[in-house]
Amino acid sequence: MKKICPYCEAETEVEVVEKIERINIRGETIEVLAHPYLCLACGDYFEDPKTGFDFLQKAYEEYRRRKGLTCFRI
Ligand SMILES: [Zn+2]
Repeated sequence: MKKICPYCEAETEVEVVEKIERINIRGETIEVLAHPYLCLACGDYFEDPKTGFDFLQKAYEEYRRRKGLTCFRI
């Protein structure tokens, strides 16, 4: 499939891949399974702006689950 790669600044051939993203929240490393695009032209990963927001949200959900917080505001 073709997407605009922010590194190439051009439309390139990309693949959706599985990647573990490690996000640090208040000293805690949260691992989230993300599905970024892999640019086949430059070999770099980039997030769809829509899904990029989602995986941060997931990280916060995981953080809350670990801490057992029910009313934790971001
Ligand atoms: Zn690229």
